[in-house]
Amino acid sequence: MRASFYEGARRFRTGTAPEPSAGAGEALLHVKRVGICGTDLHIFQGHLDHRVPKGGIIGHETFAEVVEAPAGSGFEPGNRVVVEPIHSCGECRACKMGGYYLCYALKIYGVELPGGMQDYWTVPAVRMLHVPDTLGDDQAAMIEPLAVATHDVRRAEVKAGDAVLVLGGGPIGALIAMVCRHRGARVIVSEVNPFRIDLLRGLGLEVIGMDADPVRFVNEWTAG
Ligand SMILES: [Zn+2]
Ligand SMILES: [Zn+2]
Repeated sequence: MRASFYEGARRFRTGTAPEPSAGAGEALLHVKRVGICGTDLHIFQGHLDHRVPKGGIIGHETFAEVVEAPAGSGFEPGNRVVVEPIHSCGECRACKMGGYYLCYALKIYGVELPGGMQDYWTVPAVRMLHVPDTLGDDQAAMIEPLAVATHDVRRAEVKAGDAVLVLGGGPIGALIAMVCRHRGARVIVSEVNPFRIDLLRGLGLEVIGMDADPVRFVNEWTAG
């Protein structure tokens, strides 16, 4: 099968690897989509060499189809899935309290562990989520970053009627703005990149650009 291997700062190699086989509790997935995250750009630049092995396979924003799944896992071949790209130990205090995402030995698929930039991928079935048929393949690949945005907005306790200024309208900023809007907040995004400004406006978002002083703007917008 094809795979993309990280070979050190600014170098990826596309090559072949044996198809992985699923271990206990794991499913074998046929990867259909992989997003490129800001974290992946940091990996490309060599900033995460202390975490990403040489020859490692990145990609944690994924959409896939199930090839094989463990009996009783709730998944079967052909199911469309996304993956929560977290590997936890199941033994430490955080895991035992149910906070597997805070595991003391937390590893991320696509960072420390093999990710989705390969034709076939094995992941624990407990980290998979069904994708409804109403959602297209491209949209499904956005679920992981959308989950990041949803978590951020929930932590910020944004509610209907709030005034929210999002600083930076990259993919995560744009998703945060849309989640805030969905909650009924008034949202404006501050962004300087003309391509992103066009994209944000295309999503129906209000944008302030280079010419605006965000602090003054917010003071006027919210009457202090
Ligand atoms: Zn990411
Ligand atoms: Zn743990």
